[in-house]
Amino acid sequence: MTTPTIGELLTSATHDLAATSPTPRLDAELLLAHVLNWPRARLLAEYRHRPDAAQRSAFDQLRARRRAGEPVAYLVGHKEFYGLDLVVTPATLIPRPETELLVELALAEAQRISAQRSAHHTAPGALTIADIGTGSGAIAIALATHLPTALIYAVDLSPAALAVAAENIARYGLTARVHLLQGDLLSPLPAPVDIIVSNPPYTILADVEPHVRAYEPHLALDGGPNGMDVYRRLLAAAPAALRPGGTILLEIGAWQGAAVVALARATVPDADVRLHQDLAGHDRVVVVRSTGV
Ligand code: GLN
Repeated sequence: MTTPTIGELLTSATHDLAATSPTPRLDAELLLAHVLNWPRARLLAEYRHRPDAAQRSAFDQLRARRRAGEPVAYLVGHKEFYGLDLVVTPATLIPRPETELLVELALAEAQRISAQRSAHHTAPGALTIADIGTGSGAIAIALATHLPTALIYAVDLSPAALAVAAENIARYGLTARVHLLQGDLLSPLPAPVDIIVSNPPYTILADVEPHVRAYEPHLALDGGPNGMDVYRRLLAAAPAALRPGGTILLEIGAWQGAAVVALARATVPDADVRLHQDLAGHDRVVVVRSTGV
């Protein structure tokens, strides 16, 4: 048998991965590019190249792990999110494309609050944001790169996740403005903030897709028996941790819209509460604007 080309390796891996992955071709390309240490586009330009035996064996091992359900992001050690390339490990949830909506809405709130401030000539100083349950730091870093003067607290209970976030923050040169805090929800914050943003654990573990449940950290997924535990604690503590006129933005599961909106209305007095849908049309983010200037 002759040594296979890149094109042949990708074809056979795609066929093999189709048994368990919804994106077999993409997975095969990402894994092979990782093994060769090439950008993915180069695979297509050089599809007649023949990887050597060590590279083929490394690729076969990753392909087998992927076939068994291990997420590609953990196999290659990084994931694209909001135009950023982030290091991820099994200590962190893998950033999801839906969460980009949370970032977009938080950026819009940041602009709105800043504009309101300058119109009222009040409260000079940097806009402050808390990303609660930062994991890999995805949300905090995406916000920091688009808000060049904001001060961001990235909070997580998991020291292992914070180590990953620290690496990502350093990679993007943001250590001066993104501060890591270890602890439970809002408790580590040194002072009230303008914006609280969070993609908290909200799933009902028993209902989670089996590969997600098998590989991703339960600390980042488990929202208790009905997925509401963390929202309850977070919203109860939020008014005291928010500056007047501040906003809370929460990612939610597609089935949780009504419950989280009702909880927000009950726990944050006089708030303007709105539900937003992601690109797939699913309820995905609840925005809670508190009143006051
Ligand atoms: N979006 C993740 C999933 O459904 C859940 C993330 C979370 O609990 N915050 O797999």
